[in-house]
Amino acid sequence: MTITRDACVGVVGAGVMGSGIAQVAATYGHRVVLHDTSSEALARAMDSVRRNLARSVEKGRIAEGDAATVAKRIETVGGDGSDSSALDAFAECAIVIEAVIESLEAKQDIFTRLEALFVEPAILGTNTSSLSVTAIAQACNRPDNVVGVHFFNPPTVLSLVEIVPGLVTSPETTRTTRELVDAWGKTTVLASDTPGFIVNRIARPFYGEALRIYEEGIASMATIDWAMRDIGGFRMGPFELMDFIGNDINFAATSSVFAGTFNDPRYKPTITQQRLVDAGFLGRKTGRGYYDYREGAQQPEPDRDEELGKRIFGRILAMLINEAADAVLFRIASPADVDLAMTKGVNYPKGLLAWGEELGLQTVLGRLEALQAEYGEDRYRPSALLRRMVAEGRSFFAD
Ligand code: NAD
Repeated sequence: MTITRDACVGVVGAGVMGSGIAQVAATYGHRVVLHDTSSEALARAMDSVRRNLARSVEKGRIAEGDAATVAKRIETVGGDGSDSSALDAFAECAIVIEAVIESLEAKQDIFTRLEALFVEPAILGTNTSSLSVTAIAQACNRPDNVVGVHFFNPPTVLSLVEIVPGLVTSPETTRTTRELVDAWGKTTVLASDTPGFIVNRIARPFYGEALRIYEEGIASMATIDWAMRDIGGFRMGPFELMDFIGNDINFAATSSVFAGTFNDPRYKPTITQQRLVDAGFLGRKTGRGYYDYREGAQQPEPDRDEELGKRIFGRILAMLINEAADAVLFRIASPADVDLAMTKGVNYPKGLLAWGEELGLQTVLGRLEALQAEYGEDRYRPSALLRRMVAEGRSFFAD
């Protein structure tokens, strides 16, 4: 099956993610039905779509007339006081992607109601970040039609989309969805239905190891951020990035991967971040997080000690490369998709596996072994695949 440009695409949930996904689909040429239970959310979504399109016009990326056509392709349904018939508008959609609140019950309820309406069986895509696609699908009569379609925020800007088949998703559903999202101009990677999928799992040490280094008093937050930015080449340091994402969101992501992996100590959340959340220091959005964003607040200066900076960067990078190797070991994704996911999804300066090979896998393994020997913690265990690659002198990218 192929979903063509003239097919109707549905989006349920008109928040940050849903409005962006609707815009992406409408820009490609689909008629889009966008539903939300809140009238305010629908109005905000259309405002955001129009604002984004106006910016594209200003930048000369799209003609004014085309921008108006794109916005007109999105039909909003539902809103305050609407009853369940608001979903009737989805009856003829070829695919519906849900981006409602992160609740298993809410997502299952929407999918089972939609399934009963479809004229022809359609694909049900979920934008969940942390729930199991298999568990969402389990409530449906046709779980083979359910697939994860995980966009990154904002969907109109970030090109990565993780396509996540559940245990019983049909190969046809996966292939059709991937082809469609590719046609929308996105970069798709295939991820297995495991906690955090690719990006949200592999990125955990970027935050977790930075927090560990800070908690032990090895360096200040400003120094760690400086090391990762100026020495490592990352666009933002871990603490400024957590403040940007929101500490509540970042803490929830870590906690969910930790719980989802049955408390693997590699993903253990930190008390430092828990306390920030307790205090309501959620980052930029509340004016305080790891840093103080209130007017006139003094920003801490990093200790620009090159040697310390290289040690911090080397430690965090080794943990990230180890995580990437483990994702390949457990067949969460292919080496090529792992590297693509981290460069396109979170803008890492290089793919982690390629970076590991550039440094020398032996060097990376040596750093992890030294950490494990020093701490005696399972948190620092080197991936068995990394050990094997070193022992056999192999490359992740050999055919
Ligand atoms: P959001 O809070 O901005 O939007 C959710 C919207 O869903 C709200 O407008 C709400 O009114 C609506 N809604 C809630 N229940 C509904 C229902 N039963 N029917 C219709 N509409 C309903 O949330 P978001 O940040 O856009 O996240 C949506 C989904 O995308 C979540 O599953 C989240 O985990 C996932 N996600 C979020 C991000 C991110 O960075 N925000 C990134 C990737 C994936």
